[in-house]
Amino acid sequence: MKLEWFGHVIDGKEVPSASGETFTSIDPYTQQAWAEIPRGDAEDVRRAVLSARTAFDEGRWPRMGFAERGRLIHRFADLIEAHATELAMADTRDMGKPISQSRDNDVPRTAMNFRFFADHARLSTGETLPMDTGHHAFTRFDPAGVVAAVAPWNFPMMLESWKVAPALAWGNTVVLKPAEDTPTSATIMARLAIEAGIPPGVFNVVHGFGPNAAGQALTEHPDVDRITFTGESGTGRVIAAAGARNLVPVSLELGGKGANIVFDDAELDNAVSWSIRAIFTNTGQVCVAGSRLYVHRAIYDEFMRRFVEQATAMVIGDPKDDKTQIGPLASMEHFGKVSQYVAEVEPDGGHVETGGVLDGWRVAPTVVTGLGQNSRHARDEIFGPVVVAIPFDTEDEAVELANDSRYGLNAMLFTENLSRAHRVSSRLNAGSVWVNCFFIRDLRAPFGGSGDSGIGREGGNFSREFFTEPKAVVMQIDQQQPSH
Ligand code: NAD
Repeated sequence: MKLEWFGHVIDGKEVPSASGETFTSIDPYTQQAWAEIPRGDAEDVRRAVLSARTAFDEGRWPRMGFAERGRLIHRFADLIEAHATELAMADTRDMGKPISQSRDNDVPRTAMNFRFFADHARLSTGETLPMDTGHHAFTRFDPAGVVAAVAPWNFPMMLESWKVAPALAWGNTVVLKPAEDTPTSATIMARLAIEAGIPPGVFNVVHGFGPNAAGQALTEHPDVDRITFTGESGTGRVIAAAGARNLVPVSLELGGKGANIVFDDAELDNAVSWSIRAIFTNTGQVCVAGSRLYVHRAIYDEFMRRFVEQATAMVIGDPKDDKTQIGPLASMEHFGKVSQYVAEVEPDGGHVETGGVLDGWRVAPTVVTGLGQNSRHARDEIFGPVVVAIPFDTEDEAVELANDSRYGLNAMLFTENLSRAHRVSSRLNAGSVWVNCFFIRDLRAPFGGSGDSGIGREGGNFSREFFTEPKAVVMQIDQQQPSH
């Protein structure tokens, strides 16, 4: 089969690696290579950072003004929408994401991220700080410079846009390193950015691997002013150390092990259907997945009966088919990891209520019972369609179980009791809490986590803080001598 080519995009041109090296992207459904990608190294990163630095320093983009920059970013979003099928197919072929999710969720959200941050930057206001000393102070938010963005494979274009959009909107230039398993949509986006009229060097893409390769070279590059990373907690530690060496601010969106608490006063149909989505969307490869399911004992049997029934009924198939809800896992390596956890359920004393490992890098929606809070399955981020259900008796116990994790990314709770919803939300150690729903985002709200889930928040003003240098300007109004 002839492979499709997706190059680096450096300084407005689609190019191969300086070394001429390439790698391939494997479609996990066919298990065949479908795309050829340049394998970037330190030299490609050097060229991309130089291009981003030059584009920033010559000043056209950072000084363009919010209205004109916003117009170009909106045109870019228009092109993303016009190329929805191509972009959706790229992510689906790279990582097996069901097409209904890549086309109907990820593409619109990618376009929306660009639109939102363009508008947010344009409409954003600073503070004026009237002083009673004959001075006047106000704040400015100046672009930070060159942004290094390193992305994971689970929501390729969507999470990349989550970084690139605010960085561009605030006048920065960007070098993006997509995950090696999902490179192709980034090249398509960079092609569209050029078509939209975004100047050369403003948005660069360098492909390649992480350690001792493009990812490491980018995060260690001394000419980078911000590092935004989404991925595993272990990688986050390495990247935080690289940022520390260069004294560069780092934003880290890392792993999770979301608690999903279903109280006995929950509206059961709603709780079951959101809980299914919370764990099985994107075949469980979601940082905010509700992978720990805590159900009040009074409703445990009835809830689990309905939950297992719906999990069993999910359509497993070709991710390019509109009806498919569960595709293959993203890679052979990841399939190996997830299937190992499934194989260890029964030896560890648990029970697989439904699901299990299938052929073709597939794992059926898997519901595990009989394992305790201290089991590996309840503690580790499995990052697949595997949920561990544990009953609880009291509200205090539910909160304690939910908070007993090294991750602090997100939690869900289902209750019809308003006081309980407020009380429990305030007690959960989580950057996002969803009450009677899952993964609903307001782009003005903070997103991120604590502990092994990362450092910092992005979204709205939180992204502004990260992607700019906030500045205080103090002006003297009266010509008076300082009194000290
Ligand atoms: P990963 O850490 O293996 O890789 C992420 C990116 O980092 C890739 O582009 C990779 O090439 C690069 N990388 C790896 N080692 C590097 C190094 N030493 N220096 C620089 N770059 C390096 O993560 P993954 O497997 O692609 O993604 C899955 C993980 O991402 C899960 O843990 C998931 O929870 C997390 N995630 C978190 C969020 C969030 O918002 N908190 C969102 C999505 C995914």
